[in-house]
Amino acid sequence: QKVEWAKLKNEPTVTKDGHHVELVANIGTPNDVEGVINNGGEGVGLYRTEFLYMGRDNFPSEEEQFESYKSVLESMGDKPVVVRTLDIGGDKELSYLHLPKEMNPFLGYRAIRLCLDQKDIFRTQLRALLRASVYGNLKIMFPMIATLDEFRAAKAVLLEEKEQLVKENVQVSDNIEIGMMVEIPASAVLADVFAKEVDFFSIGTNDLIQYTMAADRMNEQVSYLYQPYNPSILRLVKMVIDAANKEGKWAGMCGEMAGDALAIPLLVGLGLHEFSMSATSILPARSQMAKLSKAEMEILAEKALSMSTAEEVVNLVNSI
Ligand code: PEP
Ligand code: MG
Repeated sequence: QKVEWAKLKNEPTVTKDGHHVELVANIGTPNDVEGVINNGGEGVGLYRTEFLYMGRDNFPSEEEQFESYKSVLESMGDKPVVVRTLDIGGDKELSYLHLPKEMNPFLGYRAIRLCLDQKDIFRTQLRALLRASVYGNLKIMFPMIATLDEFRAAKAVLLEEKEQLVKENVQVSDNIEIGMMVEIPASAVLADVFAKEVDFFSIGTNDLIQYTMAADRMNEQVSYLYQPYNPSILRLVKMVIDAANKEGKWAGMCGEMAGDALAIPLLVGLGLHEFSMSATSILPARSQMAKLSKAEMEILAEKALSMSTAEEVVNLVNSI
């Protein structure tokens, strides 16, 4: 199998009937890029920037961030690199950012909520990203978007920083796509509205599942409810993909589900464009996709969408 996978390293990802999808990787630091390239990744679909801020006792400076972003962009050449702005809070804490204890940290002050409230932190990151944009193919996305106002506000801050840099005669790329993560059910349901204003969606199933099922992703006692294959999740995913297609935008997925061999045929069948996963899953996924036709996978997805329980869907995907 390893030999077969290695042959696919520099090949595009196509289904048996020639439909192309993009297989990209999730990374946490510039050091992870080597693995992406070695595993034939077509880009980076999620750069989790939190790691830059973690394991230290103060905020990373604009310069430090710039160096990290530039390094990733340069190493990836003209391949897309989707950078997610700071997603702190919930399960991810910073020792030097003194946040009050909350009853429900996953439902609390985190990610874009924090960035829009403490704009100095956000602006520093955006400036570093914008300055790095000329070194590659940068796309920026915002985490935990629940309302259109949040997306608009985040985009406005980004454009303000861009204008400021241009005024300072700093070079900034003119074609940075600006997208959002869909990881809150409200934004999945309203995807048709968001799709008119975003350049792309990236579905964060890790959170989307926990919020849809109201089952903490870290709590083993309720892990039986954490059901990626629940038809409710599949229907939300479909809503997001259909909304993107309707507006001529693209939809990807960067949650764990995107790299799950059982989920891949369903997701291709639903029309997902981009799959972002750990680097080591890329070649197995490419090989798997080559064995099935899009037409077959569409029929499979259609069946799954009409099912009543996660168990039925799991039995269905296990049967192919
Ligand atoms: C997600 O929620 O699916 C996701 C990719 O983000 P994280 O796992 O970092 O919350
Ligand atoms: Mg998330």
